[in-house]
Amino acid sequence: MESPIDIVTADMKVDITSPALTFAYHAGDYELENNGHTIEAVPDEDDNNIVTFGGTEYVLQQFHFHAHSEHLIDGAAADAELHLVHKSAAGDVLVLGVLLEEGAANSSLDDLFAQIPEENGKEVELETPIDASDLVPADSASARYEGSLTTPPCTQGVQWNVFLEPQSISPAQLSTFTKVYPDNHRPVQPLHHREVTEIPAD
Ligand SMILES: [Zn+2]
Repeated sequence: MESPIDIVTADMKVDITSPALTFAYHAGDYELENNGHTIEAVPDEDDNNIVTFGGTEYVLQQFHFHAHSEHLIDGAAADAELHLVHKSAAGDVLVLGVLLEEGAANSSLDDLFAQIPEENGKEVELETPIDASDLVPADSASARYEGSLTTPPCTQGVQWNVFLEPQSISPAQLSTFTKVYPDNHRPVQPLHHREVTEIPAD
């Protein structure tokens, strides 16, 4: 029951009864860290960004990047993938996956990509606040399933929501990441009879 997976769109079942994600994201300051697996941005304020899902509040802990994408859609990878990792008071984990394709720059991430620490273990405080709502597609269907973290210890029981519409970042932005992590994606894992649910766009 691990992640990532290949999302086979023809096998997804639409579920309009699955609860909506409600966002309370706000602009805030972040610390950027090279943790040896990825580049991770950690909000300075603890409870500044909350996603409510199924009546439970999940607080954003950090977001980070993979290149190329970890999730595939019908066997195809995107250029990169952003993971926004949230945790509830009970310790349950909800991860939002955002596929990133090369295109227009994401200006919300200019400062982040300009300051990526190349050295493992190094941290920098970003100068420009980031509003995490600028990182998530506004109007996208999602694939929802239960999986795991994709870096050790690959803990299971993680609720995944992968947006099917990609966001864009510029080739220059992506190259600042791939210069440090040319390939930090985990290969897709077997589905083992798990269902992947399609949540239509709002
Ligand atoms: Zn990840």
